Amino acid sequence: RQEQYHKLRDVPAVTKDGVAIDLHMNAGLLVDLEHVAETGAISVGLFRTELQFMLAPRFPKMSEQETLYRAALDSVGGKPITFRTLDIGSDKILPYMTQVEEENPALGWRAIRIGLDRPGLLRSQLRGLLRAGGGREMRIMFPMIATLEEYEAAKALVERELELLKLHHRQAPSDLKLGIMVEVPSMLWQLDEICRSVDFLSVGSNDLIQYLFAIDRDNKRVATRFDVLSAPVLRALKLIADKARAADKPLTLCGEIGGRPLEAMVLLALGFRGLSMSAASIGPVKAMVLATHIGEAKDFVENLLENVTGGHSLRDKLRAFAEAN
Ligand code: PEP
Ligand code: MG
Repeated sequence: RQEQYHKLRDVPAVTKDGVAIDLHMNAGLLVDLEHVAETGAISVGLFRTELQFMLAPRFPKMSEQETLYRAALDSVGGKPITFRTLDIGSDKILPYMTQVEEENPALGWRAIRIGLDRPGLLRSQLRGLLRAGGGREMRIMFPMIATLEEYEAAKALVERELELLKLHHRQAPSDLKLGIMVEVPSMLWQLDEICRSVDFLSVGSNDLIQYLFAIDRDNKRVATRFDVLSAPVLRALKLIADKARAADKPLTLCGEIGGRPLEAMVLLALGFRGLSMSAASIGPVKAMVLATHIGEAKDFVENLLENVTGGHSLRDKLRAFAEAN
């Protein structure tokens, strides 16, 4: 099996009806990046920068962050990396940071909320990123954005750091793109506005689904209660794909479902053309892409969504369609 997938490495990910799909890889540590070449991923669609912070004995200095980001960029042979700024809090704890007692950590002080409340932390990370990206392409993505204002505030910090770079006669990135994770449901109803402001969007389906159904993503007792392949989730994802396309903004999805072939097929049917996933998923998902006719899948899924007749999961119907094709 692995060998079969390995053979697909240099085969372009194009559907039966000729639609090119961008397959990106998720990573969090330098060692993960070795897989970029062997999987044939076109870029690193999600680099979870918090892993470096979680493994460190204390808050990494700006210069240490810069070194890591530069090493990351150097190790992927010119392919782009989308760096996500610190996504700590909730299940991602930094032992050296004072713990805040919270009743509901998943709904609490985390990710960009910490970054904006402690701008010193976020600015030091942005400085490390911008320095490492000097003279080359740099993509920075903010996690858990819930309002347009949060994005504007984060962007303002980037602009300040860019000015400082200039002041210190350091090279800025030759091409800087800023984007957000779409993973808080409030974003679903601000897509027109946010699409005007950002350079790209990436759906964090792990959190988006957790918050849509109000189920803790790590709680086994409730985790199997709802199916991703159901009308509420698919309609939400379709809305994002439609809005991003209308605004002509690059869109990817970087949650776990992008790496599962059946779910990924449905994502293509909904209009997604870029998926970012773990290294091990790229082969199986590429095999699915090669076997999929997007036009037919789109008709099937849209018809299914228009004719939902109760029941929750659409999985059996979608699987039957995938197997028949
Ligand atoms: C997500 O929420 O889907 C995501 C990709 O980010 P993380 O799993 O790191 O929260
Ligand atoms: Mg997330």
